[in-house]
Amino acid sequence: MTPPFALALHGGAGTISPALMTPEKEQAYQQALRGALQAGYAVLRDGGPALDAVEQAVRRLEDHPLFNAGRGAVFTHEGHHEMDAAIMDGRNRAAGAVAGARAVQNPIRAARLVMEHTDHVLLAWPGNDELVREHGLPTQPAEYFFTQHRYDQLQEALQEGRMRLDHSQALPTHEDPKKKMGTVGAVARDQHGHLAAATSTGGMTNKRYSRIGDSPIIGSGTFADDRTCAISCTGHGEFFLRAVVAHDISCLMEYRGLSLAEACRIVVHDKLAPIGGEGGLVAVDAAGNVALPFNSEGMYRASQTSHGDAIPYVAIYK
Ligand code: ASP
Repeated sequence: MTPPFALALHGGAGTISPALMTPEKEQAYQQALRGALQAGYAVLRDGGPALDAVEQAVRRLEDHPLFNAGRGAVFTHEGHHEMDAAIMDGRNRAAGAVAGARAVQNPIRAARLVMEHTDHVLLAWPGNDELVREHGLPTQPAEYFFTQHRYDQLQEALQEGRMRLDHSQALPTHEDPKKKMGTVGAVARDQHGHLAAATSTGGMTNKRYSRIGDSPIIGSGTFADDRTCAISCTGHGEFFLRAVVAHDISCLMEYRGLSLAEACRIVVHDKLAPIGGEGGLVAVDAAGNVALPFNSEGMYRASQTSHGDAIPYVAIYK
């Protein structure tokens, strides 16, 4: 019998509110998630490594303009794109990450380059762009990363920011984080029992120059350890950083012997939600169990396992 394998992925917790979702848009999101799931799952089904499966799935989502990563990355306050990504190998806890990347077409490939071709774990811009060029990974001009709907989101955020300054008493002090979130990520368990995680993001709309979120921070937005689990997060990064979300889940499993589902529930609902940390994550454990918890209105997500019904699961809202 084939050993169990599993893949789960997300396209961000910043979903369009159900009232604004049209059947056409919903179908486009579902199709994109399904395509990425198929690409990653095929690697696992053919006996390939979890690391390749998560990279494949994330690359597909990065190339899709609907998601806040790679091509569809959100705009910074100044109207640029600064992309963060991380990848981790559960076999030996090797990891690679980039922060603030500006030109590489697939930031997840740059993260893997850092892991496999340098002695480092996290490389900031402009060093990561230099590494990418040294190794000949495809880069793109700024226009490639332009999408009208992300540009409109920036204009809206700038407008709200101005209004808040002008009428600070009359308006709420927190902008709606849902409007700014996105991110893509994947986790996998392969037939050899190895785990891997990958996350890639444009960060948050209107973010300050050089702001770095949780996604490229090993232990916060991304983590993988064969002994426990692989995790990729999405949500308001500042809270995920403070709660060290991904590693906390792994620790609850390692030190307290909790199941993946229980560890995820505690961190996403009992720890993150009360401090205002909106978002969710995808997770897989050493046995191939999958968890897709979130405390936001929705999370673009998909999963498939070789055990159970083996049918692709794709969903957006609760
Ligand atoms: N966590 C990402 C960040 O803060 C954003 C997101 O997941 O939507 O950069």
